[in-house]
Amino acid sequence: MAELKIQHVDKIYDNNVQAVFDFNLDVKDGELIVLVGPSGCGKSTTLRMIAGLEDISAGHLLLDGKDITQAPAKDRDMAMVFQNYALYGHMTIYENMAFSLTLRKENPNVIHKKVLAAAEILGLTSQLNKKPSQLSGGQRQRVAMGRSIVRNPKVFLFDEPLSNLDAKLRGATRREILLLHKRLKATMLYVTHDQTEALTLADRIVCMSMGHVQQVGTPIELYDAPANKFVASFIGLPPMNFFDVTVREGMLEGKGFTVPLSEEEKGILLPYAGKEIDLGVRPEDVAADGSINMKVFSNENLGMNTLVHGHIGGSEAASNKISAKLRGWCDYKEGDNVGVSFSRKHFFDKESGNAIRKGESK
Ligand code: ADP
Repeated sequence: MAELKIQHVDKIYDNNVQAVFDFNLDVKDGELIVLVGPSGCGKSTTLRMIAGLEDISAGHLLLDGKDITQAPAKDRDMAMVFQNYALYGHMTIYENMAFSLTLRKENPNVIHKKVLAAAEILGLTSQLNKKPSQLSGGQRQRVAMGRSIVRNPKVFLFDEPLSNLDAKLRGATRREILLLHKRLKATMLYVTHDQTEALTLADRIVCMSMGHVQQVGTPIELYDAPANKFVASFIGLPPMNFFDVTVREGMLEGKGFTVPLSEEEKGILLPYAGKEIDLGVRPEDVAADGSINMKVFSNENLGMNTLVHGHIGGSEAASNKISAKLRGWCDYKEGDNVGVSFSRKHFFDKESGNAIRKGESK
């Protein structure tokens, strides 16, 4: 069992920089939580406070009901996997994996069993006598994970573990972490700036910006129903398009274009009649079958899809810029005009940036 409760946690560094504001999260036993956000948003600080590597300025941390806010790192029963692996170059893979247990003076037979079991899980059995320098980046990352597994900690903490790997290896190692999570059924917290890692790995995502949690939810919740413009633009690739529009009778009016609204959408936007809002449309929700004119300026073939960039409504204003991920192989040229439609729309309040949703009045 490993349930972690993070309650009203703040971090103020000695230089008075507040890196984390009122962080709250209940992590369930066996859950894989991904903290995601741009560089500097406070993800690592949060993880390091949980690990006990940074003091907690305010708030509480509870592990299985026990307050560990002040507990030293070594007494927290957590293991951290860093992005730079932190392996000992002069030791073999076996010795690296056994190191923490050897330090604890565990029985050598027990150590041997644990190292072999972890090596088996991670596919490192044939590498145990090698030195880290003889291994690939991906294998080294697995050794770093192996070192955590042998300790059988209550909580695994990962700080950008894939950022030193090339794109192909990142995908493969990501899948290994998922398998590892399934196999160990361990509670894991994982920090990354990469929204793809968050979407593919997480049971639940915590999306942060400037020290504040913006939204907590399953990957599909964040993708389908982002709480605000920040989450909408951070989750999803290429990012969501945003257009300045005014809510008119039965439609949205932008600069040089109009967008029809469904009955349901009209209902949602009723409190905003006559007001300006932000319309958000994901590139994958744009189709080349509509009446909104898009003037193309570039065409990128991705194989199964084509990413087309252009402007809508005959204006080159920043708010008329659009990226469309169209199905199949398209060969649009600069200056081509394409009629597009939006299959799904997201609406945001101009002032707060918050999503405008069904049943929520302004
Ligand atoms: P992230 O992991 O999301 O990139 P960090 O948690 O590393 O962000 O940093 C959050 C903020 O705290 C940043 O503004 C960063 O400059 C600041 N910060 C991080 N470490 C320290 C430190 N040791 N002293 C002062 N400020 C720090």
